[in-house]
Amino acid sequence: VFFTFKMSIRTSYFYDPDVGNFHYGAGHPMKPHRLSLTHSLVLHYGLYKKMMVFKPYKASQHDMCRFHSEDYIDFLQKVSPNNMQGFTKSLNTFNVGDDCPVFPGLFEFCSRYTGASLQGATQLNHKICDIAINWAGGLHHAKKFEASGFCYVNDIVISILELLKYHPRVLYIDIDIHHGDGVQEAFYLTDRVMTVSFHKYGNYFFPGTGDMYEVGAESGRYYCLNVPLRDGIDDQSEAAAVCPIVLSAGRFEGRAVFLQCGADSLGCDRLGCFNLSIRGHGECVEFVKSFKIPLLVLGGGGYTVRNVARCWTYETSLLLEESISDELPYSGETLHFLLLVQIHDVPSDMLSYERTDDPDPDERGAEENYTRSVGRHKRPSCFTCRIES
Ligand SMILES: [Zn+2]
Repeated sequence: VFFTFKMSIRTSYFYDPDVGNFHYGAGHPMKPHRLSLTHSLVLHYGLYKKMMVFKPYKASQHDMCRFHSEDYIDFLQKVSPNNMQGFTKSLNTFNVGDDCPVFPGLFEFCSRYTGASLQGATQLNHKICDIAINWAGGLHHAKKFEASGFCYVNDIVISILELLKYHPRVLYIDIDIHHGDGVQEAFYLTDRVMTVSFHKYGNYFFPGTGDMYEVGAESGRYYCLNVPLRDGIDDQSEAAAVCPIVLSAGRFEGRAVFLQCGADSLGCDRLGCFNLSIRGHGECVEFVKSFKIPLLVLGGGGYTVRNVARCWTYETSLLLEESISDELPYSGETLHFLLLVQIHDVPSDMLSYERTDDPDPDERGAEENYTRSVGRHKRPSCFTCRIES
């Protein structure tokens, strides 16, 4: 069924040197800085030598409008912290403000992570590489007409559309703790994209969709697969769920795979409540890689910054089939806190909601204010749902 790779797997890696410098704002759990940390680790482990490294293309408004409405993208391009008081109505219409704040360079940020995913898809189309990696991408909640769950532009949908120019069918697999609702919604009516999402479901957990009975509609009926899971899912139960389901989804004869690797499904995530180890999370990546079909690997959620960086670095090494030492390499001041831990050092027996929070040193004040307002066992299911808890 699957065609085989050439002798060696060619991997492209996209990293924009500015993408980690954007800030959602003090106290906001989404920290683009995790992308620079991941990249520093990738460099310090020497993994860049084994792949083609690109400073990615920046997506234009036109690229974004292949999925999103022109009004919405036009608004994202125009709004800034200085002029947002003139956009009261639009902020409301497009769900921009609280969870998806207006921050300096918002459109530039979207243009960078989206451009990288799009270029990955283009390279797969033209057989320039077999695997493309964009840890800055994977913003799966963004909708056609609005922002959602820290996501503004849906780079996944836009790059799947690009892939469909050359591939009859695409398989999308999402292992973020949150349901991949934006991608599911975009392809709900078509049999050309099969979406498979593993996520926490229930108790108002964000975004509230992803029930097992959501299976697609019209031509897309049964081309949408949801695996709702409960708190505390660990490596064994995840593997037991992922392997058979993805294998049967593989019979769909996808000719390319998109893998959203949200790292908020790891144990100890600031917003998550699963209990995967970095090794267990990586097993999903290895499993999907074993299909040996063109693969676009994307980031996504992930709110305990140092674990995100370790996870995605480890997964880069898996994709390259390079073993890396468990001891983190020395990497200067910016990574000083990473040196305190080893790459796989996530306590696998500790549920994230049973620990005390671990604020980022750079924003400790703001983080403490945020976490103090939340009871120990009444943590919000997600930042987005804090009003409900
Ligand atoms: Zn998530």
